[in-house]
Formats: sequence, structure tokens, C-alpha cells
Amino acid sequence: MPPPPPDSLFPRPTNLGDQTHGHLRELILSRQIPGGAEVPEGRLAERLNVSRTPMREALVRLVGEGLLERTSERSYRVRIVSAREFFECMQMRELLECHAIGTAVPQIGDADLAELRRGLDSLEDGEDDMQHWLYDNHFHSFFARVSGNETLADTITRMRVVARLFRISSAFHRKREIDAEHRAVLEAAERRDAAAAKAAMLAHLRNLQDDARRAIAVEANPGGYFL
Ligand SMILES: [Zn+2]
Repeated sequence: MPPPPPDSLFPRPTNLGDQTHGHLRELILSRQIPGGAEVPEGRLAERLNVSRTPMREALVRLVGEGLLERTSERSYRVRIVSAREFFECMQMRELLECHAIGTAVPQIGDADLAELRRGLDSLEDGEDDMQHWLYDNHFHSFFARVSGNETLADTITRMRVVARLFRISSAFHRKREIDAEHRAVLEAAERRDAAAAKAAMLAHLRNLQDDARRAIAVEANPGGYFL
């Protein structure tokens, strides 16, 4: 069996524990189990039709990955990420992802760039959030992988998962703008202009934070006109 693609959030399951872990992770990141929701071990095992042992293994792994927290002996909750943690993560992503792309640009193969562009071109406005999230994940982990630093790639994935858990960051209502921002990064990479690629990546990450700030302000002041 070939190894799973290294950027996949849902690696190909190899046993029941891995399968259960992958399934649960997908349910959380696609928000079918929303932030703050209680996840009782027994009920979940019934819902996914698996026995308690692989379910327990999967739950413990997801606690370790920061997606769940334990609330009692047999119950878990999808972790709620605070605004503070979200912005801290985004600051880390600025440092890590700009470093990754700066290192990667001189090494990226033309075929890989072409594949990234095809993926971007195939995203359409009407597609669901999950497809945008999967492309976004592929896009952001791609440069870290090309840079050859696995720790960097793993850390970026972890930061992205935390950002995704923050309730406001997942809306993807700026699909068109986000596609344009990704395109700017890609065009700079295609010109092999590392400085421009870093600048475009930084602008993209700052725009995501500005958007979250606006959403927080609207939530705190619904109907307000002085934003
Ligand atoms: Zn992005």
C-alpha cells in the first residue's frame, strides 16, 4: 500500500483505530461536530459503529492533537479556541509559513507548481467550504514540505487545525479574495521571486486576521455602524 500523501489531513487509514481517528477528525474539522459539543465515548462508538477500544484510542489521539478535551472519565468535548489563541497561532503562522515559502521557492519543481495552479483553477465559487479548506490545507503545507523540513510542516498543520477550530475563521465567505491571494503567492513562486512570495503569503495571513477582527467586532456590536 502506498504511503498517504504527507499533506493529507485525513491520512489513509490502516487499521480500525486509524480509521476511527480519521473519521472523527473529519467530523470535527468539517464542523459536523461543532466547537464545544460534548462527545460521549459510548454514543460516538454507536454512531460510528465501532467498538470502545478503537474509539478510546482515537479520542486520546485527538486530545493530544488539540482537537478535543476531556470533560469526564468517559466524555470529551470539541475544544473551544479563544480569540487570543487564534491570533497567537496566526502570528506563529506568519513566521513559519514565510520562512517555509522563502526556503521552498528556489527548489519547487515546475510540475508541482502547475499542479497547485490546476487545483486553484478548479475551485469554483459554488463549492463547499470543505473543498476550499482541503485546497487551503494542501496549499499551505505544500511549501513546508518542499522546504524539506518535516517538523516545520507538522507544526504548520497543527497551527492550521487550531485556527480552524476558532469559530470565526472557518467561514470562507471571502472565497474569491482568498483565491486571489493564493494566486498572488503562486505567481510570485512561478517567477521564482522568494521575497515577493513571502510578502504575498504575509499579506494573505494578515487579511485572514483582519477578517476575523471584523467578524468579532460585528458579533460584539450587531448592527453597529462605526466599525
Ligand atoms: Zn490560504
